[in-house]
Amino acid sequence: MKPIYLDYASTTPVDDTVLSFAERYFKGVFYNPASTHVAGQEASKAVENARMMCADAIGCEPNEIYFTSGGTEAINLAMKCADFGERRHIVVSAIEHDSVLSCAEYLAHSGYEVDHVMPTADGIITPEALERVIRPDTALVAVMTVNNIVGTIQPIRELAQVAHSVGALFFTDAVQAVNSVDISVKKTGVDMLCVSAHKFYGLKGAGFLYVRRGLKPNTLISGGDQERGVRAGTHNVPAIAGMGAAISAATERRTEYVAHVKEIRDAFVGALKCGRVIASDAPKVDDILSVAFDGINGGRLAVALSMRGVCCSVGSACSAGSATPPKTLVAMGESAGSSVRFSFGRQTTVECAVRAAEIINETALKLSGSNL
Ligand code: PLP
Repeated sequence: MKPIYLDYASTTPVDDTVLSFAERYFKGVFYNPASTHVAGQEASKAVENARMMCADAIGCEPNEIYFTSGGTEAINLAMKCADFGERRHIVVSAIEHDSVLSCAEYLAHSGYEVDHVMPTADGIITPEALERVIRPDTALVAVMTVNNIVGTIQPIRELAQVAHSVGALFFTDAVQAVNSVDISVKKTGVDMLCVSAHKFYGLKGAGFLYVRRGLKPNTLISGGDQERGVRAGTHNVPAIAGMGAAISAATERRTEYVAHVKEIRDAFVGALKCGRVIASDAPKVDDILSVAFDGINGGRLAVALSMRGVCCSVGSACSAGSATPPKTLVAMGESAGSSVRFSFGRQTTVECAVRAAEIINETALKLSGSNL
């Protein structure tokens, strides 16, 4: 039997149109975009065209986009290469993805003072909580747009205003937001924002960092002149061209997508006879949810579900091998060891979601009976 895939927050399949668009740049127009000859310029046009599509999708200028290999690299670029001047204080939310938390740790070892702003029990970072930790010497505030474990949507515009009130830069990791949320930088006023193509039906190996005009980042990868010397190395043309097509499609299809995943979520939660949806009353996307199964080990439940063909996860895919529970849930004071994350996507059907919920009901009952 085909597995029921409920792990779209880890990665999404490549969209057919995106694939046929990208395919052209594997063999036909395979040239190096840095080559000055006419063939190379054709590949360069594809990269610049993708830059325009990415800029359109988030409401910025093309020269404010820096292409990277994905979300993790864009986060490293934002946090390690932005110009902080004399400021030495960094604030990150306690519910960030490991790549942000690890960069914060790196900065702490490099002489910065780092504070973590805690979420409410519902997984929201409030402007008031940020106000309590921010200082006149804060250089950077990083809060993600959509949390990758519980799906909460953060009040980015208000948080950016708090950061700006002391002259700090505001960075948002919007990796989990593209499918469901309007991430227009004009609306939120963020200084930096990152996305990753494989989370919105693009290819793995492409992402970008938006950096507001006037804030040129320092070099992350030294070498040639690609990405204005900030990120050297030959462009991954198929993945970048595909990302342009993917982000345009995700923007166009957002309303339809939001309605689709809401229907799936409602059917799934309605059929679930056990567990408790975490942060169920907070502003949330409908394609990511974590469920606490009190008295059951979440890791064991995920393994047992996998054996019955339901693919889900305990935390983010990057930390899947780790025995520690998701930091988001720990920060929220949730029963972190007993939770499982389910995430939906374009291909999820109501039938699959309901069937998965039935399998979860049976498996959870068995595990609780055996006291595991
Ligand atoms: N940020 C968030 C919120 C994520 O969920 C992920 C991936 O799971 C990343 C960053 C890392 O992105 P990438 O896989 O493109 O490196």
